[in-house]
Amino acid sequence: MNHVSEKKLLIKDAYLIATMDDKNTKYDGGYIIISGNKIEQVGKVLPKDIDLKNYDVIDAKNCVVLPGFINTHHHLYQTLTRCLKKSQDKELFDWLLYLYDIWGKFLNPQTVRYSTLLGCGELLLTGCTTCVDMFYVFPFDQPKDLLDYEIESAKEVGIRFVSCRGSMSRGRAQGGLPPDNLVQKENEIIKDYLRVVDKYHDGKDFSMTQIVLAPCSPFSVTEELLTQTAQLAKEKKLLCHTHLAETKDEEKYCIENFCLRPLEYLEKCGWLNERSFFAHSIYLNDDEIKKIAEFGSGISHCPTSNLRLGSGIMRLKYMKDAGVNISLAVDGSASNDTSNMLAELRQCLLIHKYYSGPSSISAEDIFWIATRGGAKVLHRDDIGYISEGKAADIVMFNINRLGYIGSLEDPLSALLYCGDSQIAHMVIVNGKIVVKEGKLVNVDEEKMFYEYLLKYKDITNYRN
Ligand SMILES: [Zn+2]
Repeated sequence: MNHVSEKKLLIKDAYLIATMDDKNTKYDGGYIIISGNKIEQVGKVLPKDIDLKNYDVIDAKNCVVLPGFINTHHHLYQTLTRCLKKSQDKELFDWLLYLYDIWGKFLNPQTVRYSTLLGCGELLLTGCTTCVDMFYVFPFDQPKDLLDYEIESAKEVGIRFVSCRGSMSRGRAQGGLPPDNLVQKENEIIKDYLRVVDKYHDGKDFSMTQIVLAPCSPFSVTEELLTQTAQLAKEKKLLCHTHLAETKDEEKYCIENFCLRPLEYLEKCGWLNERSFFAHSIYLNDDEIKKIAEFGSGISHCPTSNLRLGSGIMRLKYMKDAGVNISLAVDGSASNDTSNMLAELRQCLLIHKYYSGPSSISAEDIFWIATRGGAKVLHRDDIGYISEGKAADIVMFNINRLGYIGSLEDPLSALLYCGDSQIAHMVIVNGKIVVKEGKLVNVDEEKMFYEYLLKYKDITNYRN
């Protein structure tokens, strides 16, 4: 089957289609017709006049079909520094202090390319069709356009990509956490924001590449950069993104350095509005959560990373009840240490059942957060649900496997509760098949894996 042929795609005989549309419509045994990059039709019974010869037909017999997941916070470059021994037992600040130097030494165009291919590959294989990535380490001795290698590699693997031009401007000499050789001057950063926006940002529906402005965190950027970024985002109608209230240490840092709590500080810098979205946001009090809901800022919830670093648990139920726009994210691969999106949904479900009680959240709530929640945070209505005229971003999980036996009363929830693998059977992004029978289509997985091993097996030489 040639998925780039002129023919329309027909997904038929699905076990279940969970559309995630406004009515949360589900079809047992449904079908989807895809024309170009859009969903043309979705329904339960295939119209009789359809001539299968005119379609590239995908048999979805044992598959649960969903809109692709949206991962709203990642640091793909960290894929090459997963699970380093000395990083395993540290809290955020010590973890960063250990890793900054390693990242500073090994990041170059090739490692950026590999980490993007590998990380995006993992995301696609586990059902994620849109990835937001924050790239914020620009070593002084490397080409200034490292971000471009990431964006081009994401295109190569076929994922819908939102690239956050990250930045650090507050080095140790200015009381920040990162080493001085990894920070850039504000004017250099602003200039590069404009360059990448001009070169890559496509703000239209069905866009495959967008740019977000993303100063890294209160302890690694200057007040000047935060303020200028918010102004520029407003002027250019762009989103802006940063880490917020991730740890108690960050809260202490903000109070000691700015005499303000983290959200108060960002508000002072012009960040409390619907264009901003924040990663983590664990240490927010009731009033701050209400304020975020009122101003319409989004949240990227990263449960696994928060557990791994012992940072804490975000108040998901309280935020949801308060009306905050919440999305789900795997976070960088040095604090997860995987880009497995379906596993992140499961983690999210389980941790909040513990944290707020088993009736506080359902598997379907988590699917909603990982699809519609992500789309809302990104100000998009073209992705996140299966409906006529929306982008054809579709994932199919085969439940005809050992791990799902006994679970068919609720096959959708079973994707989070059960399973012996989180690998999707098929993934379609923007109307193109990018995962087929559990394998990436656009890159040779094995070749990429062995090339990586050959070139970077000595990554541990970069250790301090
Ligand atoms: Zn992060």
